Amino acid sequence: MRLCHEATQGVRKPMSTNLTKERVLEMLQKVKGPDQGDDIVSLGIVSPIVINKGKVYFAISVEPGRAKELEPMREAAEEIVGRIDGVESVAVTLTADRNAGEASAPDTGGGGCSTGGGRAGAPGSGGTGGQIPMPNIGSIIAVASGKGGVGKSTTAINLALSFQANGLRTGILDADIYGPSIPRLLGLQGQNPEAAENDQIKPMKAFGMEVMSIGFLVDEDAPMIWRGPMVMSALTQMLQFVTWGELDVLVVDMPPGTGDAQLTMSQAVPLAGAVIVSTPQDLALIDARKGLNMFKQVKVPVLGIVENMSYFKCPSCGERSDIFGHGGAKTEAERIKVPFLGEIPLHMDIREKSDAGQPVVVSDPDGPHAKIYSQIAEKAWTNAEAHKAKREGKKTKITMES
Ligand code: ADP
Repeated sequence: MRLCHEATQGVRKPMSTNLTKERVLEMLQKVKGPDQGDDIVSLGIVSPIVINKGKVYFAISVEPGRAKELEPMREAAEEIVGRIDGVESVAVTLTADRNAGEASAPDTGGGGCSTGGGRAGAPGSGGTGGQIPMPNIGSIIAVASGKGGVGKSTTAINLALSFQANGLRTGILDADIYGPSIPRLLGLQGQNPEAAENDQIKPMKAFGMEVMSIGFLVDEDAPMIWRGPMVMSALTQMLQFVTWGELDVLVVDMPPGTGDAQLTMSQAVPLAGAVIVSTPQDLALIDARKGLNMFKQVKVPVLGIVENMSYFKCPSCGERSDIFGHGGAKTEAERIKVPFLGEIPLHMDIREKSDAGQPVVVSDPDGPHAKIYSQIAEKAWTNAEAHKAKREGKKTKITMES
């Protein structure tokens, strides 16, 4: 698996007026299509070109199942566009759209974009237009937060383990490329995933779950500076080139915030929904609101808000104190009519056990915290299944054993 394309890491070139969508298409006419006949532009398999401040994004539509084999075509397209004056970076993805002309490039969400067209299909809308097909995976649930440090990864892990404990075949993808903590939280630091056939890699295993993180491929302490297109490349490759097994649910620990990485994830795969983690403080809620709005924009259903570090329960006397002003997330959820999934206390056990690679749901499965996570997981799953059933116009199939 190749995580960073040379073209995306290249030296900055001066901005120039040469960089236009027409120029990009002209260069792409030199790239042969999947069967070495006509070029990719004539074949109509190039998506609308997105140019944003020297960054070029587009997708090439290929038949489902041929993505691996056509990687050299993707690389050639990336390389040739990288030669244009004014190109700072290029990111090309292969998508499995059936209608070639409708392949989608990601909307960067930023100002000054020249999009030349919209997305072919929104996640959650029932179509897979422009998205990476994930046929083995029943539902992909993102766990997100508007800012870092609110306990998003801890919540994601314990939710995933609750899904697993309740009989769902579960995987977790650490998409927090700025601070991948899942290997540490699952006691997998320092371990490397095995290679699989065809340049793919196998997910790691922890507590019966399949696990993938960029933290397995780079040092957790290495400073990671990602430019927008590199983010897209890294995330899409972690989805595409990992041999995920048959899973009922893949929990995605999203990077905090609402930038390129979040948009990429929200658009790259058909998300069943998002769980937003917030602390009770106003500031975190303001950030959480941004996260909510982002998912709304990309039409991903918000399965609910979790209030983490909701109250403090003294480990010695059991007395409860609302040190962060408990209840903010619940009030906000009611105000904006988003489900409220539950409150997780600030508790030493949660911190110590997570940080020691033994999350509470597995190290104390009958304890009070495991019960809280399990209830939250059940609500999130029910909401995800309800949205799915609505999309598909049928009744829920898989239920959690409780
Ligand atoms: P994020 O992913 O939002 O950056 P983390 O999940 O890494 O946050 O959590 C940050 C720190 O807070 C970690 O040390 C974690 O163990 C601790 N933490 C998270 N949730 C709780 C909780 N409910 N009680 C106690 N500590 C928590």
